[in-house]
Amino acid sequence: MSDAELSAIERAPVTAATPRYASAEEALHTVFGYDAFRGEQAQIIQQVVDGGDALVLMPTGGGKSLCYQIPALVREGTGVVISPLIALMQDQVDALSAVGVRAAFLNSTQDSAQRTAVERAFLSGELDLLYLAPERLRVSATADLLDRGVISLFAIDEAHCVSQWGHDFRPDYLQLSMLHERWPAVPRIALTATATEQTHLEIQKRLQLADARHFVASFDRPNIQYRIAAKNAPQQQLLELLRSEHAGDAGIVYCLSRASVEKTAEFLVQNGIPALPYHAGLDSRLRAANQSRFLREDGIVMVATIAFGMGIDKPDVRFVAHLDLPKSVEGYYQETGRAGRDGLPSTAWLAYGLQDVMQQRRMIDSSEGDAEHRRRLGTHLDAMLALCETVECRRVQLLAYFGEISTPCGNCDTCLSPPEAWDGTVPAQKLLSTVVRLQRERNQKFGAGQIIDILLGKTTPRVTQYDHGSLSTFGIGTELGEQEWRGVVRQLLAQGVLAVNSDGYGTLITTESSAAVLGSQRSVMLRREPERPTRAARARRTALADLPASAAPVFEQLRTWRAAEAKEQGVPAYVIFHDATLREIATGIPSTLAELGTMSGVGENKLAKYGEAILGVLGAAG
Ligand code: ADP
Ligand code: ZN
Repeated sequence: MSDAELSAIERAPVTAATPRYASAEEALHTVFGYDAFRGEQAQIIQQVVDGGDALVLMPTGGGKSLCYQIPALVREGTGVVISPLIALMQDQVDALSAVGVRAAFLNSTQDSAQRTAVERAFLSGELDLLYLAPERLRVSATADLLDRGVISLFAIDEAHCVSQWGHDFRPDYLQLSMLHERWPAVPRIALTATATEQTHLEIQKRLQLADARHFVASFDRPNIQYRIAAKNAPQQQLLELLRSEHAGDAGIVYCLSRASVEKTAEFLVQNGIPALPYHAGLDSRLRAANQSRFLREDGIVMVATIAFGMGIDKPDVRFVAHLDLPKSVEGYYQETGRAGRDGLPSTAWLAYGLQDVMQQRRMIDSSEGDAEHRRRLGTHLDAMLALCETVECRRVQLLAYFGEISTPCGNCDTCLSPPEAWDGTVPAQKLLSTVVRLQRERNQKFGAGQIIDILLGKTTPRVTQYDHGSLSTFGIGTELGEQEWRGVVRQLLAQGVLAVNSDGYGTLITTESSAAVLGSQRSVMLRREPERPTRAARARRTALADLPASAAPVFEQLRTWRAAEAKEQGVPAYVIFHDATLREIATGIPSTLAELGTMSGVGENKLAKYGEAILGVLGAAG
């Protein structure tokens, strides 16, 4: 910024943005076009409007944004939002502008003229909301700027980034305690979708939120159907899922490695599915372009590493698929939570197999860091494995992980087609005793493949080479097939009755718990995979699902209109209207502007801007 620009800003008189609405309800109806607050939104907003601090834990899609946007419209001054998601700030600002909220951002992507314009707007009270990247606060000029304006509140979005043990740690978040020290009178609201008690306490401590009221919502996402499938041909399984249940839908496919991201995206494209890759190794411009296409176009499938997704607030992501086992339940829940923010039916699907367990155990063994660190990784993995192997409701188990008690949900794979539990003690003993004999009698260790060949009595070249045909357990396991044996190995590993040796070859060894199984003091219950998910579980879950037949073509016409409008404005389609709103319009067929204005998601601004066009589309359709 030039000296002249700086001094122009300094000379300008400072004005506070005046409150735009008398009450929170008025802002909700007029600006956002919603009928009622959800969950604890009303109480959270009241707390901040009254000048108090709040710490909000709410799942993705729960409606956190309104909790700071509305107070910023009701209180005097500008609401300052700290967000780590620079790449998404433009979209956030566009979405707010679309409903008539005056918003802007300051981050490193702007040139000095753009920044000066924003600073001037802030100082003259023309902004309801100002988004800031946390690193901006390191620059003393930013703090000075904030000092000179009038701030209605600080919102600290993605507050779990302050947690050093979490997966999204950002060092710049640690200095956010300065907000309290420097502006003690400004209310603060910290928000996150991470639910564990540890993160919760860490946010409170590090952001100095000792006096904050805590709002902890239920983390259930009832519209998401959770399914975990046995992995055999993952790409084919994925393709089958997309074709039979999610044709034309937008979704995210997570893979562990960059290489598998590339391969999977290519495979989908070859099969006629519009898929794009995203990982940290891609050129940053290509990455940004792919993200932008995913957000703007309908029906794109993003194949990505976990580098993708935080803050993606695209409401109509219809499925999240994992082709590899996530490292923790926490990460899995965050990632799957990106499906169905709009509350419409969505799928979370994970393919999981023996290789995943072996690979993760190997990664932990070879990871850097001390024993304590490895122990923690191991605990995370065990919880994830327990979720995969459970014969109980997935959701009950997921919510229990976050400290919530619930009852079977009816909308997960185990509820829809309950797997059988069977007593696998005898097969477990056969397998363990093979491992023990190899170790004791031959001083050898082998991987799952060889051990299963021995149990099945297969005379492979390797069996001959090592003379394993003479072991007393050779051929004693023919009651199960090879696939079933792999399932047994996987589950014994998951239960800690068997372990992967840390030699890097994936050989199997016994554990402290093995003796109890061998000695029949402990039985082993195993899960028998259902052959195929039931039809109910495989029903189509596209945006068109359960729309009355007469409304479906109207909905499609509205979507076509929306796509053209979004393209012209260069904004994501959901910035114009959400699917949920278009569904309501397509079902209700309003004939007047007044009637259209009562529909959820149609506020004053959008009614004025698009009302006539929508009625036009409906008129042509009718
Ligand atoms: P979060 O930030 O918690 O993930 P959002 O703030 O993006 O969630 O809200 C999720 C979706 O729910 C958005 O599409 C939002 O417009 C909608 N929403 C939020 N509050 C309400 C409400 N009171 N009534 C209707 N829709 C709402
Ligand atoms: Zn269930």
